[in-house]
Amino acid sequence: KDYVDTISVSDYESGAETVKYGGKTPKEMIGAALQKHIDTVDPQDCEPGDEDAFFVADLGEVYRQHMRWKQQLPRITPHFAVKCNPDPGLLRLLDKLGAGFDCASKAEIDQVRAMGVDPARIIYANPCKTTSYLKRTVKTGVKQMTFDNTDELYKIKHIYPTAELFLRICTDDSASLCRLSNKFGASMDKVPQLLALAKELGLDVAGVAFHVGSGASDPDAFRKAIVDARSVFDQAAVLGYQLHTLDCGGGFTSDTFDDMSAVLAEAVDKEFPPHVRIIAEPGRFYTSSAFTLACNVIARRTVEADNLGGNTSYMLYMNDGVYGNFSSIIFDHQHPVPRVLRSQSCVDGYKYSTIPESLVDSGYGSDADGTFAHPREKKAITYSIWGPTCDGIDCISSEWYSTETLDIGDWLYFEDMGAYTMCSATKFNGFPDKHKTIYVCSEPAAAGFVEPYTRV
Ligand code: PLP
Repeated sequence: KDYVDTISVSDYESGAETVKYGGKTPKEMIGAALQKHIDTVDPQDCEPGDEDAFFVADLGEVYRQHMRWKQQLPRITPHFAVKCNPDPGLLRLLDKLGAGFDCASKAEIDQVRAMGVDPARIIYANPCKTTSYLKRTVKTGVKQMTFDNTDELYKIKHIYPTAELFLRICTDDSASLCRLSNKFGASMDKVPQLLALAKELGLDVAGVAFHVGSGASDPDAFRKAIVDARSVFDQAAVLGYQLHTLDCGGGFTSDTFDDMSAVLAEAVDKEFPPHVRIIAEPGRFYTSSAFTLACNVIARRTVEADNLGGNTSYMLYMNDGVYGNFSSIIFDHQHPVPRVLRSQSCVDGYKYSTIPESLVDSGYGSDADGTFAHPREKKAITYSIWGPTCDGIDCISSEWYSTETLDIGDWLYFEDMGAYTMCSATKFNGFPDKHKTIYVCSEPAAAGFVEPYTRV
């Protein structure tokens, strides 16, 4: 039962720096939710699955990101990229906040439509669509979609000739974490041919789309893309098209948002008059920091000190790994930082073996920010952290230092696990690809938007 209590807006204090709800900061609230769950599980004596990895989602953090967006990009309507994180509680909140949705497949369109979202708030933002999905899209009423090549135009003409098309153009995504322009986007020299063919086929070109690459870091990429988009609007006008929508894609991160949004807002206002509708497809910006993942240590191997002066170290095996929610290490170039959670059953009870004090000797520790290998005065133990599958690639961290002695049954948690994690988890080796999410809401102002949530 994930939703148990309704929010009461009256019992919070709001300070200048931190907002506390029920006497807790957002971090404390998430920590309490993690603790509450793990204290219900005795990993030495529970049913299979009870000790599975789980998420704590802070919907208040999503709400705060939305407010940042509205404040800094008031002209641009976000269409959340469902591929980034299809968590149902998250999507319901974004729906209530008035966001639209960027869907890449039939399943994503079905999920969002099943929530009752108006098809006009959905964009099928995949320039190369599966034919049968496209046929199905006709029935859903979703009309907006992207294209970037002639073959796709012929396909659309055949299957969905009344669709509203956005021409996706190439961008300079060289400063991004995950490049997309090697796969999608028409180069500017192909634009005349594509517009002419669309005209010849009698198709409705309604706008331009671009994506500067996921995890983008160069604001100039936005500036250049906006100028190119303006050029496409002008070229289309010569052919008799009245384009009315610009889709600025995703690529925003929480850290770069202030710089990026300032450049984007200015460029949009400079190039596009107010009657042009501006949308975007943010993913990571909304969700990355809102999800925390807790994993159970299912096994531990002692690696004895060698004669070459190496210390004894420990390999910790968790029940989630790169084939699961840590797929972000492989696909999204992330470096999740482990933090220790202590469950009551482990503190009070059984330990397979303790780590002798004499082995606590590497001289390093993770600091409060979780940064690795900062020299510390306090002694620490060397660990490596692994996922549960039989594949050697399934490694979360090849070296991690902690002053905590960790054993089977202990828990580790990882912050910033809300983007490109659960969506690309697999069932490899028979481990689960779906994990429980416990929702909390650290933002009192979001009370009217989130559903009853777990109070911690
Ligand atoms: N839109 C499209 C077409 C994408 O391919 C992606 C990510 O791959 C996104 C939006 C979301 O990007 P981000 O999470 O960087 O905002």
